[in-house]
Amino acid sequence: MSQQYRSRPSGSGTPLSEAYDTALLDLDGVVYAGGHAVAHAVESLGTARDGGMRLAYVTNNALRTPDAVAAHLSELGVPAEPADVITSAQAVARLMADQLPPGARVLVVGGEGLRVALRERGLVPVESADDDPAAVAQGFGGPDLPWGRFTEAAHAIRGGASWFASNTDLTIPSARGIAPGNGAAVEVVRIATGAEPQVAGKPLPPMHRETVLRTGAKRPLVVGDRLDTDIEGAFNGGVDSLLVLTGVTDAALLLAAEPRHRPTYVDRDLRGLLTGQPEAAVEGDAFRCGGWTAAVRDDVLVLEGDGDPLDGLRALCGTAWTHAGDGVCGLDTAKPVARLGLG
Ligand SMILES: [Mg+2]
Repeated sequence: MSQQYRSRPSGSGTPLSEAYDTALLDLDGVVYAGGHAVAHAVESLGTARDGGMRLAYVTNNALRTPDAVAAHLSELGVPAEPADVITSAQAVARLMADQLPPGARVLVVGGEGLRVALRERGLVPVESADDDPAAVAQGFGGPDLPWGRFTEAAHAIRGGASWFASNTDLTIPSARGIAPGNGAAVEVVRIATGAEPQVAGKPLPPMHRETVLRTGAKRPLVVGDRLDTDIEGAFNGGVDSLLVLTGVTDAALLLAAEPRHRPTYVDRDLRGLLTGQPEAAVEGDAFRCGGWTAAVRDDVLVLEGDGDPLDGLRALCGTAWTHAGDGVCGLDTAKPVARLGLG
């Protein structure tokens, strides 16, 4: 195959937990959702770890410290040490330390996770533009972040401070639904200054670099629920990825994925770590996986057969992605997706 884009999910003859040394796991929608562990996450992660796979938890949320995230995971039944948690606060702190002199003052617009990460890199958090900061670090501050922090950031940036953001996710999931994320807060400062921040978080390389540096992973597998952060981050880092359908991505979104958003593997939930992965076989102009066959007939995406719905989805991915080439599949996927009965 000479094409530069992925035209179907890959197969794996061995369980993914054996084929890869480290799982780089997204948290929300993968391990937990709304304060509860995702179904099958606790047992699957325990089995993968007992089998020798290193587990690391990679979050774009800069608010909480690794200690706090690890404590939360352990409460849910997913034993984790602070060293197993990598945050976008750590990634942005390293990015800043690479560019600023040791001991540089940094105005913090964010929470404790960001302050701790900056101190760890020898930078000095300050609270006002009047403290003459060399840079501004902006991360998710949660509901308690006062508006005045944006004012301080704007004054500091207009005064010549360089501007860094942990991540630019526009929204953040919460127990009460979708809320404004750090990307929305970054827009506030951008509007006031006309400046552009350097960004560390997924899907950008600083976050992936931080993760690989901290875990020492030789053959990592990114595991996530979001195409434009987790899966694109893996694509940008040149590593394989597993999409799980327990979060924000459903079958229709996956079928419409552009090339950099196409995961290496797709499975229903974290049980997919413990199994091999079937590969859709090309049969003429159709894709077959398990008991399912998918093809395009008269510009209509058609799915026939039965069996494990995930196999049907893998066959559909092959057909939709091949049809899309390096673009986005414009075929109507509603009917074949409904046939799968997923979600
Ligand atoms: Mg997620």
